[in-house]
This record gives sequence, C-alpha cells and structure tokens, in this order.
Amino acid sequence: MQVRHGLFATLMLATLAGTAQAADEVVVYSSRIDELIKPVFDAYTAKTGVKVKFITDKEAPLMARIKAEGANTPADLLLTVDAGNLWQAEQMGILQPFDSPVLDANIPPQYRSSTDSWTGLSLRARTIAYSTERVKPEELTTYEALADKNWEGRLCLRTSKKVYNQSLTATLIETHGAEKTEQIIKGWVSNLATDVFSDDTALLQAIQAGQCDVGLVNTYYYGRLHKENPGLKVKLFWPNQADRGVHVNLSGIGLTKYAPHPDAAKKLVEWMTSSDAQGLFASLNQEFPANPKVAPSEEVAAWGAFKADSIPVEVAGKRQAEAIKLMDRAGWN
Ligand code: FE
Repeated sequence: MQVRHGLFATLMLATLAGTAQAADEVVVYSSRIDELIKPVFDAYTAKTGVKVKFITDKEAPLMARIKAEGANTPADLLLTVDAGNLWQAEQMGILQPFDSPVLDANIPPQYRSSTDSWTGLSLRARTIAYSTERVKPEELTTYEALADKNWEGRLCLRTSKKVYNQSLTATLIETHGAEKTEQIIKGWVSNLATDVFSDDTALLQAIQAGQCDVGLVNTYYYGRLHKENPGLKVKLFWPNQADRGVHVNLSGIGLTKYAPHPDAAKKLVEWMTSSDAQGLFASLNQEFPANPKVAPSEEVAAWGAFKADSIPVEVAGKRQAEAIKLMDRAGWN
C-alpha cells in the first residue's frame, strides 16, 4: 500500500508540474505581422516569465484553422484587425466570452463585443486624405459631401472587397439607413478619378502623383508614408466634426473557445489593455491606444485631435453582409 500511495503521489505531482509548466505560455494566432506584435510579447515575457508563442497568417486562414482544429487547437488567442473580422470569428463560434473588470476599466464599451467575445487593443481612423496642392481643407466637410458634384473625377477609393470599406459602409447604413447610404456611395463611385486601388498606400501615392485629389484611408498608412517621405504633399482631414465624428475601427483580440491556457491568456489580454502595454502596442503601427487614459505617440498626436464616431464598432460586423450587397449595387468594385 505504501508503494502504491507513493506512486500515486508522484503521479499527482508530475501532473501538477505539467499543468503549471503549460500555463507559463500563451499561444496567439495573429494576422498582424511579427514586427507589430513581437516587441509587445517580448515585454510581457520579460515582465512575467510567461512565454508567448505566435504564428502569423491572413485572418481568414487563421480563423479556418482554429475552426478545423476544434477542441485540439493550440491557439489561446486570435489577434486580428477590424471589428468586421472579429465579429466573423465570433459568428464562426471559435471565440468564448471573456468578462473582466480590468477590460471594463480599460476599454470603452463601443470598442468591445457586446457579448465580451473580443476587445479592441488599438484604434485607427478611416478618414479623408487630400492633396495640399489642389485642395484647401475648407473645401472638405463630411464623408457624405465627397458624393457632391465638385469632386467629380477627383476621388480615389480602395476596393470594396476590403473589410475596412465594408465596415465604413456598415456604419453609414446604421447612421443613414440603406437608401440614403446607397445614394452617397453611388455619388462616390460617379466621382472616381480612376479604378479602385488594392491598398491604401497606392491610393495615397496616387493623390501625391496628381491622379486624384482626395481619398479615404486608414491613418497608419498615412503615418508610414509620411515617415518615409516627410515632404509628402498629402494631409489628413477629420470629417463630420459638426455631427457624429470620424469613423474609427480597431485591432483586437479574442479568447478562443477551446483555449488550452485560458487563465494565462486572459492575463496577457488584460495586460495588453493596460497603461504599461498600450503606448507600445499602438505606437508600433502608428495607431491610437484603445485605452483612453493612454496618450498616442508624438507622431500620431501631430495629426491633430478629432471627435470620433461613438457608434459601437460591432455594427461593422452586424451589417457587413448588407454593406457588401449595397456596395455591389452601387457599382463600387
Ligand atoms: Fe491595414
């Protein structure tokens, strides 16, 4: 009997030790490239000793992989951009609710899932970029006004296949209803200077090159290009300051349904929303911290303060299918 007890005790200890060891790591599937996340994870490991392993890929294959892996997934967390994508992940059933007083304190509710399935980590505005050579900022007012006749042949847009434009359109539908939104988007399409672009950087370069005078971009693409070329003759304009504010979207993170290390993963997410991590995480991609107590970096602050739309970004997901159909009807390629 003594031997048996001894063996049992040894097995128990081994099991506990195994559990403790496994809990000292967190596995992240990330659609953000290494250089935008590794410094943050390295800082966490340096502070806590917890290892953060991550793989990077586009969001669609990562989400499909988590779904296919099911209960055997090694992934604890899905890190991606755009509320439209996070909402899709939630719809696929690959996330689990994560209620936390720390998140409640750090991140405003409009930047989180109403079911606690994901939280925003950093913010980006999708705003108007304009040529400082051919446009006076006084000529600009709202997203809606880019449908006016005076912008005919002067507007550049990225493809409607990109989730960023789908999310913007989804919030327009929420604000104005489908009929008015379709009119606005038809106006944009009829004002196009050229075919739609496959990315925001190419669009900004087209404004610089004189192919068009105004366009819609995410702020960090402007930040990157401006850093490379400080003489850029393109600036950002904050529209709709007299009404609802600028369209804001986010990068965010969700706990997977079958996370093998849920407690360690939750602690990492809570830390990522803290003052300790927010400045670093947001500045790596020239974004705004999602935690309003943390100031943006100097280069981001230099773009000027603005009023952001307070609409819950979850709307981007809820109305995504409707937005895609509407953009198609309006002829936005
Ligand atoms: Fe992007």
